[in-house]
Amino acid sequence: MRTPLVAANWKMNGSREFAEHFFSDLNLEGVTSDVVICPPFPYLFQVAEAAKKNGGFSLGAQDLSQESSGAFTGEVSASMLLDWNSRYVIVGHSERRSLYGESSELVAEKFVAAQMAGLTPILCVGETLEEREQEQTLQVIAAQLQAVADLIEPTVWKQSVVAYEPVWAIGTGKTATPDEAQAVHAFIRTQLADSGPEVQILYGGSVKSANAGSLFAQADIDGALVGGASLDASEFAEICRAAV
Ligand code: PGA
Repeated sequence: MRTPLVAANWKMNGSREFAEHFFSDLNLEGVTSDVVICPPFPYLFQVAEAAKKNGGFSLGAQDLSQESSGAFTGEVSASMLLDWNSRYVIVGHSERRSLYGESSELVAEKFVAAQMAGLTPILCVGETLEEREQEQTLQVIAAQLQAVADLIEPTVWKQSVVAYEPVWAIGTGKTATPDEAQAVHAFIRTQLADSGPEVQILYGGSVKSANAGSLFAQADIDGALVGGASLDASEFAEICRAAV
């Protein structure tokens, strides 16, 4: 069966001091799920050191370049992330798509760059409120997945994680109900062809310890990608403990 996975997306939050306190407060006792922490790039080293010292979690990044090296000011490559022991990388977060104009085609190239280098991509998909109201949710998600499927062999899905993050639920305090989320997760699994049963599919969007249990109880929800609540070490550990 699939091991649950809980990933922290710190987004552009934190500082050296924040990370120091976070790891001295983080108690993952009783956690059986995979745990990933995705800090901003400048703190990868610090989080890698904490992972070595404390154990119990892996390192992830929040984005990467689709290019491998060269004149791309400001960009970070897959091999640089591997240099700091990153195992995972988020690709296609809705903030990257909407604020930085990342198309599904670019996201797919990033997915391939990550996967070819040996990183596990965490591919984010999800609809906006407008798309949901127009009943386009499944169509939008199918297209976001198809852009990746166009570039990979279907078995490659097995080396990836998919995160369903309805845009209207991110940072808003509104969560999809467990049933709403489950319906989309089940749909995503069918889109991953034969690899579907093996892929960890995470839910993201205002996940907290108070709602994590009911989401994780759904058959096709294998964990969470957590933004705001991942900045509090004890709240984050509670969410991880709920993933069984
Ligand atoms: P949130 O963010 O938990 O703050 O809603 C989730 C995400 O954007 O990954």
